[in-house]
Amino acid sequence: MNTYPERSIGGVPLLYGFTTLNPMEVAVYCRFCLVWHHHKLVGPPTVVSYFEARCYARPEWYDRGYWVEPTSTSWLSVRGQVRCATVAQVRALAAGRVSWTVRQKQLQPEPRPQVRPSRPPAAPRKTRTNPYGPQWPTAYPQPPEAPEED
Ligand SMILES: [Zn+2]
Repeated sequence: MNTYPERSIGGVPLLYGFTTLNPMEVAVYCRFCLVWHHHKLVGPPTVVSYFEARCYARPEWYDRGYWVEPTSTSWLSVRGQVRCATVAQVRALAAGRVSWTVRQKQLQPEPRPQVRPSRPPAAPRKTRTNPYGPQWPTAYPQPPEAPEED
């Protein structure tokens, strides 16, 4: 199978994790099983973590599991980008059969996290144009010095 994940760390695939309604859970799209695998986060949602594969399609890297990179993109916003397997296709995949339709679904591009629009650069600070300076006192009157006695 030449659909090895494009990103990997040390031969272990690196997949995107999308946020679900559970803040400590991510959804990972598996292009071999054609389903979303849900995993409980074991660390902060900004850290790449390792998970054992839950694949019933048994890809070649099944024993290695995969890394999951949590993103801030919602699963609900990307789940429509990919087509999942039907029940009959799931059964066929679990039995090790890959039909032409399943092959076409496996070749579809993986869902990607949305790129957040970058902030526009901050406007330059306006320089002070008041010619009279600040309106608060910058020097306070000092008490008169006592006259020196001889
Ligand atoms: Zn899988």
